[in-house]
Amino acid sequence: ENFPGDFSKNPIQRNTPKVLFSTIDPVGFDHPKLIVFNEKLSEEIGLEKFNDTDLDFLVGNNLPENIKTYATAYAGHQFGNWAGQLGDGRAIIAGEIQNPEGQKTEIQWKGAGATPYSRHADGRAVLRSSVREYLMSEAMHHLGIPTTRGLSLSFTGENVVRDMMYSGNPQEEKGAVVVRTAESFLRFGHFELMSAQKEIDTLQKLTDFTIKNYFPEITSEGEQKYKDFFQAVCTKTADLMVEWFRVGFVHGVMNTDNMSILGLTIDFGPFSMMDEYDLNFTPNTTDLPGRRYAFGKQGQISQWNLWQLANALFALIKDEKFLEETLNSYGTYFWKAHDAMLSRKFGFDGVKENDEEFFTNWQGLMQELQLDYTLFFNLIEKIDTVSDLKTEFQKISYTILDEKKVRKLEDFIRQYQLRLKKNTIEKDESVNLMKNNNPKFLLRNYLLFECIEEINEGKTEMLEKLTKALENPYQEIYPEFSAKRPSNYDDISGCSML
Ligand code: AMP
Ligand code: MG
Ligand code: MG
Repeated sequence: ENFPGDFSKNPIQRNTPKVLFSTIDPVGFDHPKLIVFNEKLSEEIGLEKFNDTDLDFLVGNNLPENIKTYATAYAGHQFGNWAGQLGDGRAIIAGEIQNPEGQKTEIQWKGAGATPYSRHADGRAVLRSSVREYLMSEAMHHLGIPTTRGLSLSFTGENVVRDMMYSGNPQEEKGAVVVRTAESFLRFGHFELMSAQKEIDTLQKLTDFTIKNYFPEITSEGEQKYKDFFQAVCTKTADLMVEWFRVGFVHGVMNTDNMSILGLTIDFGPFSMMDEYDLNFTPNTTDLPGRRYAFGKQGQISQWNLWQLANALFALIKDEKFLEETLNSYGTYFWKAHDAMLSRKFGFDGVKENDEEFFTNWQGLMQELQLDYTLFFNLIEKIDTVSDLKTEFQKISYTILDEKKVRKLEDFIRQYQLRLKKNTIEKDESVNLMKNNNPKFLLRNYLLFECIEEINEGKTEMLEKLTKALENPYQEIYPEFSAKRPSNYDDISGCSML
């Protein structure tokens, strides 16, 4: 279906039964300004070298006639409730590009104008959320975590009105557009929509398309094909959750419309990297006091989301027993992978007897001593050289370490060193495991905050520094980024930055 024109001037929610997408043009901006263009990514995906006039493309201006741009319809469960039809409200797909190796990449604008799925919102994005999405998606990529990516970030030249704190006093902020890329932007919600609308033919076509294009390893046929597909989505999702746990990433809005069918980190909203270790930490102030999407719940929530996907695929997999068993074994798979991940962070040769107990004790210690998650692992990597435990650990704690706490710490470190002695791998190998699994640079919320302030004032020094640091997260490039969050930013870690 065609919906030409700018929907922000007459925003109405469209229900579009029987279709998965609507063609829609970006609204266009008269005075855009490029902030940053990701040349490395551009080469990887097969774009030719960009020049000044290409800024037009990056904000969706003057598109060639042959480009058919579109927004997709999806549904979702939001905060545990069925939300019905949603869709790309501020994302428009430019198309797909193929690089010389035959690898295909979808290109999408975020914030380029309203679409038939914008409901009552404006289809625009503010600088704040755009900088966060661009930088964090790149940070995740360089950490080695599956994610959508950021190709460019531009000012639109227009202001956008937002009421960030629901104060009833909306403020103008600078508008921006991010161009983001992914092998596919398909979400659990696309499948849920087709199932809810009883469009079983389309659901099947969509699933066949997804398997054919993105799951080439699946060669079975009939119902077995869909079973293999569901199993593969479960595995990819569990693997992604383990990776989020590894680096301390909290997504903040794990609604099923924000769950990639390919197991990518997608839709960067009120996310945050975790500073002090806290299983209950959520950066999303709209998720209080429930904390449905808190750090420690991400494994269990992803399983809940997969239940919703299973319901959606039931029309294709009419085998309740299979679906239940697959979902039940999800927890076992997740915890096994999670503990193996932790063991690598500690430099262990695997998960041995008593290690689970060790991990549980460690969690209690981290939580009680309010230790910085990332800096803790950086410190124990060189624990042999630490002579004054109290001083070194105080530097990475967000609370005062009294004598009682120091005793607990000493006790734990003793246990840790005893466990290291049981390793059957060489010391070098153990240290390498730690170096490869524990980042030295973390794109913390307060760093993003400072970077946004600067860009807002037209400066890019911080942006350039952060870019260099996030491209090499397993090295220490700027020592000033290797300290805990400064106390004047204590509120920032819990700031809803939608
Ligand atoms: P999110 O919580 O960011 O995943 O968004 C939930 C839904 O609201 C999605 O369908 C979005 O596309 C839509 N949405 C969010 N912000 C806007 C906006 N500024 N304009 C239009 N749609 C939006
Ligand atoms: Mg979303
Ligand atoms: Mg979003």
